[in-house]
Amino acid sequence: MKNIPEIFGSLVFNREVMKKRLPEDVYKSIKHTIQRGDDLDITVANVVAEAMKDWAIENGATHYTHWFQPMTGITAEKHDSFVTPDNKGGVIMEFSGKELIKGEPDASSFPSGGLRATFEARGYTAWDPTSYAFIKDGSLCIPSVFCSYGGEALDKKTPLLRSMETLNEQALRILKLFGTDANHVEPNVGPEQEYFLVDKEIFNQREDLVVCGRTLFGAKPPKGQEMEDHYFGAIKPRISAFMKELDEELWKLGVLSKTKHNEAAPCQHELAPVYSSANIAIDHNQLTMETMKKVAERHGLVCILQEKPFEGVNGSGKHNNWSLSTDKGMNLLAPGKNPYENAQFLLFLCAVIKAVDDHQDLLRISVATAGNDHRLGANEAPPAIVSMFLGDELTAILNAIDEDVPYYGAEKTQMEIGVHVLPTFPKDTTDRNRTSPFAFTGNKFEFRMPGSAMSVAEPNVIINTIVADCLMQFADELENQEDFRSALSALIRRTIKEHKRIIFNGDGYSNDWKLEAKHRGLLNLPTTADALPYLTSDKNIALFTKHKVYTEKELRSRHDILLESYCKIISIEAATMCDMTSRDILPAVSAYIKHLAETVCSLKTAGMPVPHHISETLKRLIELSDEMSASLKLLRANAEYAQRNLGSEKCGVHCRDAVIPVMAELRRSADEAEMLTERSFWPFPSYGDLLYYN
Ligand code: ADP
Ligand code: MG
Repeated sequence: MKNIPEIFGSLVFNREVMKKRLPEDVYKSIKHTIQRGDDLDITVANVVAEAMKDWAIENGATHYTHWFQPMTGITAEKHDSFVTPDNKGGVIMEFSGKELIKGEPDASSFPSGGLRATFEARGYTAWDPTSYAFIKDGSLCIPSVFCSYGGEALDKKTPLLRSMETLNEQALRILKLFGTDANHVEPNVGPEQEYFLVDKEIFNQREDLVVCGRTLFGAKPPKGQEMEDHYFGAIKPRISAFMKELDEELWKLGVLSKTKHNEAAPCQHELAPVYSSANIAIDHNQLTMETMKKVAERHGLVCILQEKPFEGVNGSGKHNNWSLSTDKGMNLLAPGKNPYENAQFLLFLCAVIKAVDDHQDLLRISVATAGNDHRLGANEAPPAIVSMFLGDELTAILNAIDEDVPYYGAEKTQMEIGVHVLPTFPKDTTDRNRTSPFAFTGNKFEFRMPGSAMSVAEPNVIINTIVADCLMQFADELENQEDFRSALSALIRRTIKEHKRIIFNGDGYSNDWKLEAKHRGLLNLPTTADALPYLTSDKNIALFTKHKVYTEKELRSRHDILLESYCKIISIEAATMCDMTSRDILPAVSAYIKHLAETVCSLKTAGMPVPHHISETLKRLIELSDEMSASLKLLRANAEYAQRNLGSEKCGVHCRDAVIPVMAELRRSADEAEMLTERSFWPFPSYGDLLYYN
């Protein structure tokens, strides 16, 4: 066993390394840049760059790259070597402060949603000193933001940093009212990453998996996850070897990989890190996903991050645990122990409740992708209707405040906010039903809608901004009040009254809830095509511009990028289905039909009766193959229409109404044909082969 504390962070240019390698004044200056956002002097940058380069070379690096997060949802890098001619025929290794601070990748092929014409191809990357540089594959990676020539954000990190800034500002205003000591407030995030591992050889035999990352066909196997025998089950040796290597790689990169276990579906697993500041957590989650894929390859496996790789079994999500803390170590979502902490907690709790209720649309949009649409509302995943779980006890406390009656918990308490201690209430355990999209889990919220493949930057941009906005409204109302305590009481009471419709502790899957939610006036946006138009509403443009998280232009460009990506994914899936149907499935079914027909002929020639099951199967396969041909023709036409109109509003609606339903229809016929066709005739591995490879 290796010495973990020794390898942990060994590939990271972290504070310890900086302290050791930088002159004291330079170290101080960079520390202030990291902690307080102070501007970075070029002379300081030059010294830091030199030290970074020396450290990177000692650790085997030859190149450097600005490492950024364009709108593709994954990371991007362009490597330059440190090699510089020394004008004597040799080379020296160089890296300047200017190169550290700014990069200019030719970036014409990244999605920009019209923010940058291709003739102004350049994008700019700029160092984000709040996330440490690290070494990956022999390159010094410098976490960076990415923007256009005109300064518009083209990435996921820039709006995240902006949203953290506004949240900090507004939360500090509130803390000041309570006299709480803090210089800085930041969101903490712990993203639990679910994933599937399948055998690489089997995976490669399926065009749908290779091209789309999920199966588009596949009859239900005799055993799915009914027995619940995989969840938390003993980890098989091959998987365990993968997980060990993954942990080690992640620890070297300073990722606090903590928990690993088998998930509910066969060959589904989870990794949870220890939470950290949102910006770092999101960088680390990107690294985690990338490392999972890389390490899986080395073990003859493929790591599937897509949200719904297999129909009929659980999909993969990424529960986004979120809380707020001060630089003095106070968790603002912990109920606290004395009246003043309780009152402050209640106010922050109310800010989140109001934020979720006022901005259900944005939370839904923040997780809207073609892949995640298949997951929401199916199996373990929360439904597409946004609601909040607070647990029975906390809900009862809020109700008592709302109605101004005593709370009947363990002891009868009449609560006066800011005077009485909150009655102790047990942490509710019913949150384990997993059907709630936004659950309070004791001292943090768990947003369960994000899909496994996506960057959680967007969900956190949204949570940060909407909570900041509510805190801002609260601060505006409470500042300069003569009687702070009664103003606070009134505000909390009013907020509960106005927004308690968003609180729902029951079963989010039930049809009753759909009706009840409608009755309460909550939004139900089942697909990305339904959700996206809300992004650019007046309310949302006003919100984001007020907090300087997105300009109107940036917001509109994001809408276009998301819509185009939705349409592209569905078009590619449709095209893949057409390809598999016409070149694999129909020929296989025809071959089997021929085989059966020949059997029938031979039997008849021999004067023997034809067994019932042969004639029945033959008849049904002929019907199914006609059904498939008809669906195929329709799907081709509809997918072509989508291709021609990519990215327009009508294309999204068309994909939802005319492509996805035909895909489902085609799949139904094909899956039935699979069940009727002799195994050896079927052209690719079955669900059973995929899910039970080891
Ligand atoms: P589970 O949900 O499986 O019971 P936990 O709730 O303990 O597990 O933790 C799940 C994730 O939540 C972990 O990544 C953990 O680091 C993170 N987490 C725990 N506390 C906080 C917090 N205060 N803020 C943000 N994330 C947190
Ligand atoms: Mg959890």
